[in-house]
Amino acid sequence: MAHVVVVGAGVVGLATAARLARDGHVVTVLDKERAVAAHQTGRNSGVMHSGLYYAPGSLKATMAVAGQRSMLAYARAHDVAAQVTGKLVVASRPDQVEGLHALAQRAQDNGVPAQLVDQATARQREPHVAGVAALWVESTGIVDYRGVCRALADDIRDAGGTVVLGARLVAARDVATGVEVLVEHEGHRRALRADALVACAGLQADRVAQACQIEPEARIVPFRGEYFELTPAKAALVRGLVYPVPDPRFPFLGVHLTRMVDGGVHVGPNAVLALSREGYTWHDVVVGDVADALGWPGLWRLAARNLVPGAREVVRSVDRTAFARSVAELLPGVRAEDLVPAPAGVRAQALRRDGRLVDDFLVQVSDHQVHVLNAPSPAATCALEIAAHLCERLPV
Ligand SMILES: Cc1cc2nc3c(=O)[nH]c(=O)nc-3n(C[C@H](O)[C@H](O)[C@H](O)COP(=O)(O)OP(=O)(O)OC[C@H]3O[C@@H](n4cnc5c(N)ncnc54)[C@H](O)[C@@H]3O)c2cc1C
Repeated sequence: MAHVVVVGAGVVGLATAARLARDGHVVTVLDKERAVAAHQTGRNSGVMHSGLYYAPGSLKATMAVAGQRSMLAYARAHDVAAQVTGKLVVASRPDQVEGLHALAQRAQDNGVPAQLVDQATARQREPHVAGVAALWVESTGIVDYRGVCRALADDIRDAGGTVVLGARLVAARDVATGVEVLVEHEGHRRALRADALVACAGLQADRVAQACQIEPEARIVPFRGEYFELTPAKAALVRGLVYPVPDPRFPFLGVHLTRMVDGGVHVGPNAVLALSREGYTWHDVVVGDVADALGWPGLWRLAARNLVPGAREVVRSVDRTAFARSVAELLPGVRAEDLVPAPAGVRAQALRRDGRLVDDFLVQVSDHQVHVLNAPSPAATCALEIAAHLCERLPV
């Protein structure tokens, strides 16, 4: 039996802590916020992904297929709202059909059940959605990730663990027999000794690693994803989940329509560089965050390669009419007045010094520490699988 400190009460940290507690370890979860799921986990699209998009053999691909099942089973066992809705990936124009076929092939490679369907069959599923062809993916679903986090926190406490909110990890270091951790809680700093530490710090992952004397292979660049909710009249036109064919050059899936567990239909997210790692509007600017982003050579290299699509995303962010136009490609007739602003999320995307985005989940370890340095979508879907992976790598 070991004492393990877990940093981060998002879904990845809590899933890891719950697994460790279930295995008999003494667990202390620390989160600097006053509630669980305060950042990415509580501000995402709420989708349990099927594993459709990811490079065959990658952690994302294998874990998403297993994760969709384990997350659904967990939600059902804990009375958390979840539903397998299936989703329709829609080619709006003939030039997207080739991409749709590539996606169908990828689904097959990853063992994800998916069927190419013609316009008429797509219309039976989603009568108001426009497109020339579509891919029906049956295992995709929706879940209340905040509810999952509350259930995981209860599991941790029931197994004798502790979840300390408002507690920020300041620093940590490996010592001969474990880790020394410095924590700030309610204005006081105190030192903790533990046998091991797992950090699942999302948007702060690289900084937390540095504070723990680990040099991260990549840095976090924050990409804000803005959402709108459809007005009830337009929401009634959408039955389930409708996605565009993604641009394979980008890690994001494109603005999609998601009927959430509360019954509303979310539209988004776009992807703009955020001026604050944990700020959710253009008005949130943290000078240190901007300086860190601009000081990382990888960002300049990435920007140089993506000037035009990057500028397009900014336009779509500041001009609701432009946003509505891109939604109307999927759902004709949507106009700016049909979109009601909804809370945004910020994605933690790791970027290498040479400007390459880290595609797969990334974990770095030291003698007594395990740090998750890249856990973007579909990490919420995969949380229970990532937890198992981290526990295997934990030196206890
Ligand atoms: C807009 C958007 C849409 C998405 N859609 C989906 C989707 O539909 N399906 C899906 O599977 N994935 C989706 N994702 C991705 C998914 O939400 C994330 O991969 C997942 O939530 C990551 O969980 P996490 O626990 O690693 O990070 P987080 O949820 O961000 O949690 C990290 C926690 O660490 C804490 N922390 C940081 N630093 C410290 C410190 N020094 N001390 C103490 N605590 C600290 C933070 O307060 C935070 O609570 C989406 C993400 C975004 C942003």
